Amino acid sequence: MAAKSKYVYYFGDGKADGKADMKNLLGGKGANLAEMTNIKLPVPPGFTITTEVCTYYYAHGKSYPKTLKKDVEAALRKIERSMGMRFGDVKNPLLVSVRSGARASMPGMMDTILNLGLNDETVKGLIAKTKNERFAYDCYRRFVQMYGDVVLGLKPVHKDEIDPFEVIIDEVKEEKGVTLDTELDAEDLKDLVARFKKAIKEKTGHDFPQDPMKQLWGAIGAVFGSWMNDRAIAYRKLYDIPATWGTAVNVQTMVFGNMGEESGTGVAFTRDPASGENVFYGEYLMNAQGEDVVAGTRTPLPIAKLRADDPKMYNQLEKIRKTLEKHYREVMDIEFTMQQDKLYMLQCRVGKRTAFAAIRIAVDMVKEKLISETEALRRIEPHQLNQLLRPVFDSAEKDQAVGNGRLLAKGLNAGPGAATGRVVFNASDAEEWAKKGEQVILTRIETSPEDIRGMDAAVGILTARGGMTSHAALVARQMGKVCVAGCSALEISYVPRTMSVNGQVVREGDWISIDGTTGEVINGKVSTRPSEVLQVLVDKSLDPKDAPIYQTFASVMAWADKYRRLKIRTNADQPDQSLNAVAFGAQGIGLCRTEHMFFGEGKIGPMREMILADTPEGRKAALARLLPLQRKDFEGIFEAMDGRPVTIRTIDPPLHEFLPHDEKSQRALAAQMGISYEKIRQRVDSLHEFNPMLGFRGCRLGIIYPEITEMQARAIFEAAANVKKRGIDVEPEVMIPLVGHVKELEDQEKIVRRVADEVFKASGSKFRYLVGTMIEIPRGALTADEVAKVAEFFSFGTNDLTQTTLGVSRDDAGRFLIPYVEREIYAKDPFEAIDRTGVGELMKIAVEKGRQSRPKIKLGICGEHGGEPSSIEFCHQIGLDYVSCSPFRVPIARLAAARAALADAKPAKVARRRAPKRKRSRTARR
Ligand code: PEP
Ligand code: MG
Repeated sequence: MAAKSKYVYYFGDGKADGKADMKNLLGGKGANLAEMTNIKLPVPPGFTITTEVCTYYYAHGKSYPKTLKKDVEAALRKIERSMGMRFGDVKNPLLVSVRSGARASMPGMMDTILNLGLNDETVKGLIAKTKNERFAYDCYRRFVQMYGDVVLGLKPVHKDEIDPFEVIIDEVKEEKGVTLDTELDAEDLKDLVARFKKAIKEKTGHDFPQDPMKQLWGAIGAVFGSWMNDRAIAYRKLYDIPATWGTAVNVQTMVFGNMGEESGTGVAFTRDPASGENVFYGEYLMNAQGEDVVAGTRTPLPIAKLRADDPKMYNQLEKIRKTLEKHYREVMDIEFTMQQDKLYMLQCRVGKRTAFAAIRIAVDMVKEKLISETEALRRIEPHQLNQLLRPVFDSAEKDQAVGNGRLLAKGLNAGPGAATGRVVFNASDAEEWAKKGEQVILTRIETSPEDIRGMDAAVGILTARGGMTSHAALVARQMGKVCVAGCSALEISYVPRTMSVNGQVVREGDWISIDGTTGEVINGKVSTRPSEVLQVLVDKSLDPKDAPIYQTFASVMAWADKYRRLKIRTNADQPDQSLNAVAFGAQGIGLCRTEHMFFGEGKIGPMREMILADTPEGRKAALARLLPLQRKDFEGIFEAMDGRPVTIRTIDPPLHEFLPHDEKSQRALAAQMGISYEKIRQRVDSLHEFNPMLGFRGCRLGIIYPEITEMQARAIFEAAANVKKRGIDVEPEVMIPLVGHVKELEDQEKIVRRVADEVFKASGSKFRYLVGTMIEIPRGALTADEVAKVAEFFSFGTNDLTQTTLGVSRDDAGRFLIPYVEREIYAKDPFEAIDRTGVGELMKIAVEKGRQSRPKIKLGICGEHGGEPSSIEFCHQIGLDYVSCSPFRVPIARLAAARAALADAKPAKVARRRAPKRKRSRTARR
């Protein structure tokens, strides 16, 4: 018989049943409470009910395993012994908190209940023990409020509605003629408890339970229940957290930050989570409970103030900070409580950070020898680099806006970057407006976990209350959103939907600009300009020496280059794009779409003449005019790429894409060409296709009109010869698109090689070049052994390969693909991340068959997937040589490629790949 499952894990008195690596079972919070207990940090005793119980709960009609009741009771007795107190005791009552804690942190998404165990009798014990009636009733009213909300369901139902408990508090304050909660005395709080209980009974039909055990099971059930609440489901979707993981429940002895002016509570990061700077960073509030700090209802004090006010306490915290960083080798996010002069740790977890901070912390920790380079690379998510490339405000324009009195206020710089958008005052409007294509700034007095979808839809988040660790700040940083928090000068009214400050009124729909790096809020639009990394690399307007963010970025990129095996190329068809890509680290061009060039200066005219020509002679005359123009374009690209390989694809799209479709432009073209409008219209009509993506495009054009391929090949080779004559190396790779049959490629290859020979002869120049193909049609992949007899390289065109494999039009799929992903028919949009089981299988077949015929065939990818981290990992796994992506995704691809190499099972492979000149095995990996 299988061993009986252990459902309850105790921690306390320097020893715990669990430890840090048991997150799957104990959740993040439970595992870290156990770990902190084991490393002798001051943790109030408690126990964790495992995530397996949550899974059981949902699999068995919301019931618990038989043994759970007994186990919970036993653990409770252990706490009682440790504390010398009893649960439900009228003289010396043990009070507990009940909190959720999943494997992955889901800040604020699930429910928490504090001060559990209080009732009309035990509250008297608390008064007797603390000699503080006000404190005891404050605890009691908070408990009734939380329990009423979370377990019994008394909460606002409409988006503009105020919390019913807050309404009662306001009533009592008004009756008493006071404005602050702290002005309410013990009698008032007692009155609040009575009114709360009455409201709960009236509005929900439930009595507030007096029996502490009943309270405990109610709270445990509510926490497990909150795993399936709306906001937790939305959050899980956003961060790919499976519902099967479940949450744990932590029951822990209460300690009190609200026991008077010498008590307090706080949250802190062992380093600054916004900038990454190695300073202790946190906030605290005296005479308050944990929720007050994160809820943003009172603005907390910076931790530096504690150093001045209570150096003894501060030093204890500083010591814990160092212990934690050394133990976890990570930046930790901690929650602590000071109960009179004693410090308690209530939580620690790996701290969420901005991309700026993630990169800086990783680099600093390598320097401090806390972690290795490879560990640093593992810790930076490729997409985080996006934040470093994000725009900042144009400073001149911003200064001018400020000078003109448009600076509305200044808040906390909670999420760096610059955002301009229209103001909306609630999350559902943010979602709706964003769906209509509006750029919105979600503006709230404070945000709550309910706002998660709206925050995701907004370009920026602005709040009037709360600190750097408030909900808005934390979630915005995690999402990588621009955020200004705690901007207390703003007077926000939800009902008329206005925000006023210094006599200026901003209404719903008005434009504002927020600077998440400085905390400034500006009325109206302000234009943005490139980030520091871009100023150094692309604009070359900033010296790397004066760019600390760039320097850190550069270290990470250098480490990534050391460990990655995949080469990174770019998709570019202009010299300036090519130069940008090289600045970002591109090692070649993986796709130059020549058709994009035909829309450039002076080219569309001859292109249209070529398409509209009736005879080969007419076509050739037009092509002769295009030749020098295209040659010049290629020269620019070869020069920019300075000897790096350049893959140039022959013309690909259906010809009608080049023709004017409205009457006015058709008439203008007729006049320009000296032919009748009717003729133009007839020709455009004759080129119409019902299914152009599967029609007359790709190599089919060059087969039917060989003179087009001939002209393009000539332009490529003549350009290469000219550039070579200027002393610049060239490495052209001519790529034939949409090949499904080897004979198509043979046909085109002959033309290309003949032209190359002619150009070599005429110019007296010679250089290495390749002829290859795109693999973007399933037949091409399935017959890759035949195709590879001709092709010297394959480049996977996964945009078309996805469209043709799935039978889904890449231009029309939006309507059903989004619901498909929502319903998890496809886990991710297959046009964004490679569909490994379908398209990926075809790629594997093509790799294997291609190498059977030509063991040294060069293999790459140039579809959009080439810049998407999970697809890059797949390309690494199937043994491609390179990925090619848009210039701005090159840094992301470098990092993703390194992480893929590091994730590879055999570290020896990485070492071997780093060794220069050694030959790499060409066999497909896994
Ligand atoms: C592709 O199909 O993946 C590709 C790169 O070509 P295009 O997007 O130009 O069709
Ligand atoms: Mg294609």
